[in-house]
Amino acid sequence: MNLILLGAPGAGKGTQAEVISEKLGIPQISTGNILREAVKNGTPSGLKAKGYMESGALVPDEVVIGILKDRIAEGDCKKGFILDGFPRTVPQAVALENMGIGIDKVISIDVPDEKIQARLSGRRVCESCGASYHIEYKPTQTEGKCDKCGGNAVLRADDAPETVIERLKTYHDKTAPLIDFYAGKGKLVRIDGQEEVKDTSKLVLDAVSS
Ligand code: AMP
Repeated sequence: MNLILLGAPGAGKGTQAEVISEKLGIPQISTGNILREAVKNGTPSGLKAKGYMESGALVPDEVVIGILKDRIAEGDCKKGFILDGFPRTVPQAVALENMGIGIDKVISIDVPDEKIQARLSGRRVCESCGASYHIEYKPTQTEGKCDKCGGNAVLRADDAPETVIERLKTYHDKTAPLIDFYAGKGKLVRIDGQEEVKDTSKLVLDAVSS
């Protein structure tokens, strides 16, 4: 099962990808997490990506496509994978097709812009493993510590309100066209992101198994 999760920043892609990953035993591939790790380690891709990420812009297609290609070639992706944050442009989606990788389903999690800002200011992400939390909707068991690995669960720098405005603009300009792209291929399922994580999970899991 090869899946794509689409949606604005803060729509819940990462959280729901974790749920599906556990349920189906296939890896979650978050290009955002891979890029943050690359920035932290100062790799060549990380150095290229840093400025774009900080300003809320997209990292150039060729950088992200290269990263994705390498990740999908790893052994744990043989049974399937969940793409969380890729593709984010039509050229990325075309590159995925050109890799000869079939996509079974694309799930778009729809959340109105007005709700995104509040969601992102409460989001916390583990610095070590990338797991996502929310102070209200999905709190960590111990404040500030990741349930999975004990790393620090922190506010991402690019979740600051002024950067979120830029990221939403980028989403509408560059990523939202993918909704029509995949609808045209008969792969798209749209769901409304719910207030409670578990309610969205139910809709997502129904969509995966339908
Ligand atoms: P995310 O964690 O998915 O919100 O991604 C954080 C940031 O990483 C984005 O705002 C982009 O700057 C960059 N990024 C992640 N995935 C992609 C992608 N597929 N294409 C371009 N930039 C990306």
